[in-house]
Amino acid sequence: MIPGAFTYHRPSSVAEAVGLLADLGEDARALAGGHSLIPMMKLRLATPSHLVDLAGVKDLKGVATDGSDIVIGAMTTQHELIGNATLTAKVPLLREVSQQIADPQVRYVGTLGGNVANGDPGNDMPAVMMCLGASYEVTGKAGKRRVAAREFYQGAYFTALEPGELVTAIRIPAPAAGHGYAYEKLKRKIGDYATAAAAVVLTMSGGRVATCSIGLTNVAETPLWAEEAAKILNGSGLDAATVKKAAAAAEAICSPASDRRGTPQYRTKMAGVMLTRALARAKSRAR
Ligand SMILES: Cc1cc2nc3c(=O)[nH]c(=O)nc-3n(C[C@H](O)[C@H](O)[C@H](O)COP(=O)(O)OP(=O)(O)OC[C@H]3O[C@@H](n4cnc5c(N)ncnc54)[C@H](O)[C@@H]3O)c2cc1C
Repeated sequence: MIPGAFTYHRPSSVAEAVGLLADLGEDARALAGGHSLIPMMKLRLATPSHLVDLAGVKDLKGVATDGSDIVIGAMTTQHELIGNATLTAKVPLLREVSQQIADPQVRYVGTLGGNVANGDPGNDMPAVMMCLGASYEVTGKAGKRRVAAREFYQGAYFTALEPGELVTAIRIPAPAAGHGYAYEKLKRKIGDYATAAAAVVLTMSGGRVATCSIGLTNVAETPLWAEEAAKILNGSGLDAATVKKAAAAAEAICSPASDRRGTPQYRTKMAGVMLTRALARAKSRAR
């Protein structure tokens, strides 16, 4: 339960951080809130020789608007997401998701950037970012680029990040005013990762679905964007038969592992159940 020896670095700018990561090579890891990385180090599942702590990089903090986008610094904590007035007004889904992550102790230090960059299929934010059509601003020694959340996740703990690159910000196009949203998460107890979870953002017009987007958590090696399921719902009044068809389409793309949370069959079925509940709640919130 004691991590291996490492050298601690504390840069004060993004340039200094990516310079260190590039120079130190594959033995170096970025440290954000540490609430995924440190447990992995204690279990010796991660053994970095160098930790580059991002806590001193002020540019990585905060929430700003840029035109119709909301830009959240990677080191913004889950606790700060819950209390942010701009997010509560424009993307209330983020508050709802953050409140379901772990417990207050974890949320005080766990960051949005660490959650999306980690690549753990159990993390809640990646599927939510896919649902919202978010993109990640990525910086390396060679410069900056932007990667869509829907293209970022390639396997368990395997993402589009190149060695030495950092996620510096998360950019979310603000959903339309009056949108409905919900995050339904089945977990065994407070503080647990999802057995299965579903994020929904939709707009309604004349009692019918005008737009719909769905993300699924912890039911495959990567978070899932359930495009087909959303297509089935478009134009419908979310009647029971159409919702059942959409839930079946969502279940069809799931391939969860068997673990203490349940068998693949159970977790797949729960993805459909979570989606059905999320759709009902999102509809009730849409104006
Ligand atoms: C008891 C417990 C329960 C938890 N339950 C949940 C849960 O229900 N849902 C959930 O989503 N999470 C859960 N977590 C995880 C928690 O949300 C973590 O805080 C989060 O996964 C990682 O964020 P972090 O800031 O702690 O990152 P760290 O642990 O510091 O880093 C995680 C990984 O991401 C890399 N990284 C960090 N920041 C960046 C960056 N900006 N750019 C590139 N790479 C980066 C690190 O090098 C590391 O590989 C739980 C954790 C604990 C301890």
